[in-house]
Order: sequence, then structure tokens, then C-alpha cells
Amino acid sequence: MSCYFCGGYRETWTGYFCESCQEMSRITKVYGTQEVLDILRTTCIRNKKQINNKIENVKKEQEQAEAPVQTRSQKKKDQPK
Ligand SMILES: [Zn+2]
Repeated sequence: MSCYFCGGYRETWTGYFCESCQEMSRITKVYGTQEVLDILRTTCIRNKKQINNKIENVKKEQEQAEAPVQTRSQKKKDQPK
């Protein structure tokens, strides 16, 4: 029996999807269909290089968001004289 979504091998007789598609189904239930569709349309409908660039940009944004706030005096110290 094959997965109803991708046509791949199904792990069990009772499930309709393969392992990967079951995970995608769970992610969709958590974030909502529209959110997942927006992500797929804005990140996946590109060539491989564009996808990697997008992933790198998102990683940089996350790192900047998680980085501790730097004060002006700290920035002055870090600059070479
Ligand atoms: Zn599948």
C-alpha cells in the first residue's frame, strides 16, 4: 500500500500516509494549513540555491533576534582603534 499524499511506502496498514507525510500532517495541524501553505509558497517554490539562501537568511534573522542587546559603549569597545 502506498501513501495517499506522496505515493511512498506506508509504515502501517491502518495509516494513510508514510512516516514523512504523517509528520507533515502533524506540523500542519500545529501551525494551521494557511501558515504551512504560506511557508511552502514563499520558501519552497524556488530553485535549490534560492532555498539555501532563504534558509541562511532566516537563520541570520533568528540569531540576531536571539543575540543579547549590545549597548553603544560595548560597540565602541569592540571596534578596532
Ligand atoms: Zn508520503
